[in-house]
Amino acid sequence: MPIRQLPPSVVNKIAAGEVIERPASVVKELVENSLDAGATRIDVSVEQGGMDLIRIVDNGSGIAADELHLAVASHATSKLETADDLFRVRTLGFRGEALASIAEVSRFRLRSRQPDSPAGAELEVVAGQMGLLSPCSSPPGTAVEALNLFFNTPVRRKFLRSTQTEMGHVSEAFTRLALAQPDVHFTLRHNNRQIYDLPPAADWIERISLFFGAELADDLIWVESHDGDVRLRGYVARPSQSRSHPRMQYVFLNGRHIRDRALQHALSEAYRGLLLTGRYGIAFLNFEMSPELVDVNVHPTKLEVRFQDGGRIYSQLLGTIRAKFLTTDLTHRLAPVAPADDPTQAHDPDAAARVRSELVDWAKGQLAEQMASLGATDAGAATESSSSLGASQLAAELGAPARQPQFDFSSGPTPRQPLELTRITRRWDPPAEPSRDDEDEDELEEAPSVRHVGEPVRALQIHNRYLIAESEEGVVVIDQHALHERILYEQIREKVLAGALETQNLLVPEPVDLSAGEAALVLEHRTLLAQLGVKVEPFGGDTVIVSSYPAMLVGLSPVEVLRSLMEHLAREGRAPERRDILDELLHMISCKAAIKAGDRLSQDEVTALVHQRHLAQDTHHCPHGRPTALVFTREELDRQFKRT
Ligand code: ADP
Ligand code: MG
Repeated sequence: MPIRQLPPSVVNKIAAGEVIERPASVVKELVENSLDAGATRIDVSVEQGGMDLIRIVDNGSGIAADELHLAVASHATSKLETADDLFRVRTLGFRGEALASIAEVSRFRLRSRQPDSPAGAELEVVAGQMGLLSPCSSPPGTAVEALNLFFNTPVRRKFLRSTQTEMGHVSEAFTRLALAQPDVHFTLRHNNRQIYDLPPAADWIERISLFFGAELADDLIWVESHDGDVRLRGYVARPSQSRSHPRMQYVFLNGRHIRDRALQHALSEAYRGLLLTGRYGIAFLNFEMSPELVDVNVHPTKLEVRFQDGGRIYSQLLGTIRAKFLTTDLTHRLAPVAPADDPTQAHDPDAAARVRSELVDWAKGQLAEQMASLGATDAGAATESSSSLGASQLAAELGAPARQPQFDFSSGPTPRQPLELTRITRRWDPPAEPSRDDEDEDELEEAPSVRHVGEPVRALQIHNRYLIAESEEGVVVIDQHALHERILYEQIREKVLAGALETQNLLVPEPVDLSAGEAALVLEHRTLLAQLGVKVEPFGGDTVIVSSYPAMLVGLSPVEVLRSLMEHLAREGRAPERRDILDELLHMISCKAAIKAGDRLSQDEVTALVHQRHLAQDTHHCPHGRPTALVFTREELDRQFKRT
């Protein structure tokens, strides 16, 4: 075939292939345009997960009537003038491709009015064929509609999934945008039902809790740091809140949601030793830096970026969170304690110094390992690349040698001891049924020791939250809440499986208002919920009635119970596994019903609790994945006291 220059329509279809993958991509591009236009209110409505219709209406600066044609032309943008501008991008868009791409693969309508012009103008484009410009009445701002996405590219249309799946993606895209811009008023409607109405938020946490609930928001810890021109601010969740996927790790850069493998890695490093294998921390983090320090032109949808000094950002993130965790009491989220009660609080200068020296030790240890592994390969050949991550900055700040070679994690991180537990041996109780299929099982690293049920134990409660007991092999320190929670979890689970959970009928059945999707899901899983003692009935519209409850949970609001379930029920993409839902509810019930850290126990209660420890099948971790007990072996104590 001879070489030919491709006609614009083919060029646009190729671009559309890169930028527009599914309805959610259209939503992302259009909302970004609205934000670039300075809109303070953006209304998103979609039908059939966006496959039939996507409409975005904003109150931004609008487009002049005589520029509407240009707006939908390819490589036409108002956001760049010179090539140099590419390296200091302050807008979300700059490639001038989105509108052209969308208009190429849909029935597209663009209506806009600049605030100072008397009337608006409208332009229709069908599968890339531009119609005529017509005047219209319109409020100031821009309204864009894309109908029947991919109607003219049947192959791509075939790749779209169910309405629910596509809506899941739209909702995720919307969430990222609305989280990135909390001071903008956003709404989202699906099939004419309102899903979100998010008025401008006074602070970030307000918007976060609108999306993810107050319970999660309560478990978030503020982190903040400055490193030269780079500012990091946001929240990380306590390790008691974790997920089986990393999708709740939201990272933003100058108001743009980004995905960055290196930063994801830094986050898992920060949580190292605090979460079980396979669990991911939750984070909402925003980096602010001068646009010259980052190249956003490396990915068609700008999801990935390239930092000028990736190693430094990596270290800043890791160091900030790690330092915060080291100075924060991570276990007592249920009962706030007086600072005097807590030896790890930072206003003790000794504690602060200890934390600092621990960090230094750790950073140095890390460096030594990297040096060693570099020595094994060719240290001189290690070069800076977008995948090479450095902890050099952190180490340098902490007094390690100034010149460090770059190192590369792409071959996988080196296993390392968790920070907190380096000086303690953890020992688990054997699960009664070794075949129990549970994610915790990977954690059974050591040979289980033999124990006799009913063996007498002497135990003592300290600080109203820990139980100290003597055991055959040494001393056990037990987290009373975590252990009780675990025991209840096992007990409730058994009862549920035997169909014998005590329930309590509510005197007055309680109506709970849900979104349409939530209501449908709750009703769909009615039988499962009933098995757990939660009886729900439809009550018209999106309201359901809760008429009965697990007896253990009296005093807890039905809304809370149902909300806790939503996350699993509404999980994007696939239908949640029955087992997951059951497990989630069991976890919640046991957590709520368990004694709290801070509860004073009688000696009998202490003894009873410690005794039950042997009855629970898997007492080494509470259902949230925190260890319930630490064992200091006698040998370990002997060694620490220099008796050996
Ligand atoms: P880019 O955003 O990369 O510039 P687009 O194809 O998304 O490219 O948009 C092309 C141009 O159309 C933008 O540069 C902007 O001038 C104009 N435009 C698009 N959407 C809007 C909007 N909602 N409000 C104001 N102007 C818009
Ligand atoms: Mg754009």
